[in-house]
Amino acid sequence: MPSSTDSPTRSRRIHLAAPLALCLGFLFTLGATLNIAQTSYARDSLRFRNDVSQAHAAIDERLEVQISLLRSTAGLFAASKEVTLAEFHTFVSSLDLANNYPGVQGVGFSVRLRPEERETFVTHMHAMGQENFQIWPEGDRAEYHTIAMLEPLDRRNRAAIGYDMSTETTRYEAMQRARDMSQPTASGRVILVQEIDQAKQPGFLIYVPIYRGGVTPATVDARREYLVGFAYSPFRSGDLFSGIFGNQDAAAISFDIYDGTELKPEALLYHSESNTDPRYQPRFTSNETFMIAERQWTIVYHSLPAFDRAGTLNLVPVILLVGSLLSMFLFFLVQAQVNARHQAEQAVHERDIFLSVASHELKTPLTALYGNIQLLQRRVANSGSMSEREQRITRAVVEQTRRLMRLIDGLLDRTRLQEGRLNLELEPIDLGALAEQVVDEVQPTLVQHSLVLHRPNEPLMLIGDTIRMEQVFFNLIGNAIKYSPYGGLVEVKLRHADTTALIQVTDHGLGIPSEVTPQLFQQFYRAPNAINRQIRGMGIGLYVVKEIVERHGGTVTVESAEGQGSTFSVRLPLAEGAACAESC
Ligand code: ADP
Repeated sequence: MPSSTDSPTRSRRIHLAAPLALCLGFLFTLGATLNIAQTSYARDSLRFRNDVSQAHAAIDERLEVQISLLRSTAGLFAASKEVTLAEFHTFVSSLDLANNYPGVQGVGFSVRLRPEERETFVTHMHAMGQENFQIWPEGDRAEYHTIAMLEPLDRRNRAAIGYDMSTETTRYEAMQRARDMSQPTASGRVILVQEIDQAKQPGFLIYVPIYRGGVTPATVDARREYLVGFAYSPFRSGDLFSGIFGNQDAAAISFDIYDGTELKPEALLYHSESNTDPRYQPRFTSNETFMIAERQWTIVYHSLPAFDRAGTLNLVPVILLVGSLLSMFLFFLVQAQVNARHQAEQAVHERDIFLSVASHELKTPLTALYGNIQLLQRRVANSGSMSEREQRITRAVVEQTRRLMRLIDGLLDRTRLQEGRLNLELEPIDLGALAEQVVDEVQPTLVQHSLVLHRPNEPLMLIGDTIRMEQVFFNLIGNAIKYSPYGGLVEVKLRHADTTALIQVTDHGLGIPSEVTPQLFQQFYRAPNAINRQIRGMGIGLYVVKEIVERHGGTVTVESAEGQGSTFSVRLPLAEGAACAESC
């Protein structure tokens, strides 16, 4: 049965609805996830850069402070002809290193000695109260850079006094550069001579050259000539950097500081301690080069779990999961609806088949029954042998059979319309005459109602199927009577309206609730007030009327107020030349 419910394209489209909803759901989830991932990544990476800059600035600031300390120490030596041990002690004590310069191992002065000055200097140191002073390691060298003073003179620093730093390449190389460039210069990674305990920290030193007379000589040769010594500081990098950053447990980023540009273990100056699982894969990493006192360091920053946890990137898998679950939920929901719809369509399809078969099967015996009953009625009426009561019963039987016939005809018409088999036998029809004929036929059957026809005198001609047009009149008038259960006036008005014939059937009965009028012309639809009143019907009549009228190129509409009555209006195109005759 070729009905709209069976259209293969449409049913294919409906079956695609659930997978389509799933795909759209997934696409939407994916889009949202990507968007959130991108924004989160951008925001977190900015946060990381910010943390890195802050760490960078903290290291820079701390070392600049140390360098200016050394510059003022150098100034002290350049300004005085001689600085005694006591003066130096007072100077360094006044700086309060522990509080103002955390991480610095000490502040010292190393003197440059030529071989011939060596003995005198040692004697001088002894005279100043350093009885055990000696230059070490032993050996003859072109010049000596021995540590003369180092404060605070604690256990570690005492171990360094007298040490000739030029005997060790890394230190000497930095000293030479400081001397030649007249700049504060940091050494490479060393283990300080102060590292007298088992657990040794790597460290480095910063040298500030001191020239005779306190003025930097203009040439490298002159600088080499007039060098007095160095103000310097040894740094234990563990103490220095943990002093800068404090407790790392709650830190958001970790960092490793390498001397130079190569990230090799022997160049590692400092590794920030954190309670991180070594297998942890940091989300952000950044390698930064850093110039400190003419020396290049590389600092590798990593984000720590605390940093990553604070980021919105963690939401991404949650959004992906929730979105996917919702998409699947949507899929099942749509699928369930599609199934339900499919079942409903199946049921409608089966009903249509049943109605079609049943009405076809019933039509033939019913027609025979109706014919025979009419014959019987006529025969008995002619013989005059029937009592008044028997005649009433026979009339009732005829009437019921006729109703049954109309019902079956309605069903058959519906099936024909559905199958596109309702053929119209077109011919010129005078609507006025046809309406009169129908009214005349209905009139005698009325008890409580009065049926009035208003029609123009001249013919209202259209090209149409007489039987079907008759059916339109019968259905509309029949409804007007049926749905005015307490009787009353039913009016049928026909007139010209421009190029159309307007038929209006008005009753003063139940009326129709306004909210259901849009459904009224659907097959099998019945308004609730009709059902409540238990007025019998199948909901096919108006559907058939609409189909017939539309197939004649016309329209049907209804105006109604519940409890006051209804007017059904049919507009049909008039036959050519018939429009606007006299009365237009
Ligand atoms: P049926 O009358 O067999 O139910 P119809 O298709 O002729 O089927 O009408 C559909 C529904 O429209 C009716 O059930 C009824 O609720 C409503 N209806 C039709 N005509 C009228 C009317 N004149 N007054 C009130 N309700 C009407």
